[in-house]
Amino acid sequence: MKVCKFGGTSMATAASVTNVKNIVLSDPERKFIVVSAPGKRFSGDTKVTDLLYAAYAEHNKNGNAAAILEEIKSRFVALSDELGVHIDWEEEFKSIADGIARSATDDFAASRGEYLSAVLMSKVLGFEFVDAAEIVKFRKDGSFDAMLTNDLVEKRLKHCETGVVIPGFYGRMPDRSIKTFSRGGSDFTGAIIARGVSADIYENWTDVDGFMVADPRIVSDPMLIGVLSYEELRELSYMGASVLHPDSVFPVQAGGIPINIRNTFAPEKPGTLILKDVAGYQRPLVTGIAGRKGNTNITVSKAMMNDEVGFCRKVLSVIERYGLSVEHVPTGIDTMSIVISDVKSKRVDSEKLLNDIRGMVNPDSIEVSESMSLIAVVGHGMANTPGTAAKIFTALWKAGVNIRLIDQGSSELNIIIGVEDDDYNAAIAAIYGAFFKE
Ligand code: ASP
Repeated sequence: MKVCKFGGTSMATAASVTNVKNIVLSDPERKFIVVSAPGKRFSGDTKVTDLLYAAYAEHNKNGNAAAILEEIKSRFVALSDELGVHIDWEEEFKSIADGIARSATDDFAASRGEYLSAVLMSKVLGFEFVDAAEIVKFRKDGSFDAMLTNDLVEKRLKHCETGVVIPGFYGRMPDRSIKTFSRGGSDFTGAIIARGVSADIYENWTDVDGFMVADPRIVSDPMLIGVLSYEELRELSYMGASVLHPDSVFPVQAGGIPINIRNTFAPEKPGTLILKDVAGYQRPLVTGIAGRKGNTNITVSKAMMNDEVGFCRKVLSVIERYGLSVEHVPTGIDTMSIVISDVKSKRVDSEKLLNDIRGMVNPDSIEVSESMSLIAVVGHGMANTPGTAAKIFTALWKAGVNIRLIDQGSSELNIIIGVEDDDYNAAIAAIYGAFFKE
C-alpha cells in the first residue's frame, strides 16, 4: 500500500486538485493521502500558509485578522464550488478566527491551510479525514516525539478499511496546542505516515519531474536523476535542493521504505526513486550539486594557537551559547574558521558574538564575512574515483571562481566548496558543465 503526499501546487487550483483525485483513484493502493496547504496559483500569487502567518501577525497588531481570513476563505469557497463539493466554510473559518484569538504562537494559524486542504480533499475523494493533531505528537520541549507518533499512526491508520486524508505540517503538543514543523514540513508528515503504516512506497507528488542534478534557475535543462540514495538526498536537501524537506529521509530510512518523487502534472513520468541501496543502478558520478548562499565565516587567528589546548572548544562554546549550529570548522596552524548558516536567520548580533569570542580566547585578529556560499557536490560514485576533485577545481579555476573553503566528508559522498556569494551561480554552472557537458 502507498502513502501519497501532494504539495502546495497540486492543491492550488480546482484543475490541479482534479489531477490529484485522478491519480489517487487510479490506484487502489493509494490509500493514505497527506496534503499541503494550497500554494501559488500563478507566479506572484501568495501561498495560503503565508496568508495565514500574515493573519496571525495582523491579529497581534490590531486584533483583527478578518480581511485576510476572508481572502483565504474565498479561495476555499472557489475550490469547493468548482469541484462540486459542499463544505461549511463559514463554520470552519469561525473556529479558525476563535483559535487565532486564543493562540500564543502563530503555529495554529499556520497549520490551518493543511487542515482545510485535507477537509476539502477528503470530500473530493470520499475518504475519511483523520486530523494530524490526533496522531502526530510533540514533547513538552517542542521536539517531535517519533516513538509515540509511530505508535499512534499505526494504531489509528494501519487497519483502516477505507482511504484516509491527513493534513501535513503539524501535530499536537502535550498541552493540546498545535505545533507545526519547519516550512515545507508536510513532506515530513508524509514520511511519518509511511513509516507508521509500513507503506510499500512513499510517493511524494510535486510540480517537477523529479530530482534534478542542479537548480534549473541556474543551469538550463539540468539532467534528471532516476535513482538517489537516502544519504544523497539528505545531503542535497540539507544543502538547499528544495524538492523535499531535509528531515523526510529519517522516518522512511528507518522503515526501509522507498520514496518516489512524482509530478502531479505529468503522472505518466516515473520520477525519481530514493532507495537505501543504489548499487546495481547505472548512475552518473555526481548525482547532485546544491548549495546555500549567505553563510557567515568567522576566522580567528592567534600565533601558537595549535599549542593552546582547548582553543577550539572555547571558541565553539561561545557559538553554542548563541544557539548557532556550526557547519564547518576548517583549521590551520594559527587560524580557525567557523562557518555558520543561521547567524542572520536567528538575528544574532555578530559584533557582540565576535566580542565574546575575543573575551574568551584573546586572538590576534578576528574577521567575519557574511557572504559565503557553500556548495555540495554529491554522489556515491565519487568515492575511490581519482580525479573528481581535480575536475571540480579545474572547472572553478577556468570560470574564474576563487575557492574559499574545501571540505570532503570522510565517506567521500560529498565535496563541499565555499565561494563568495557573487560567484555562486557561476560556480554551480561550471561544476555542472564539467560533469555533464564535457
Ligand atoms: N504549507 C507549509 C509551507 O508552506 C508546509 C508544506 O507545504 O509542506 O511551508
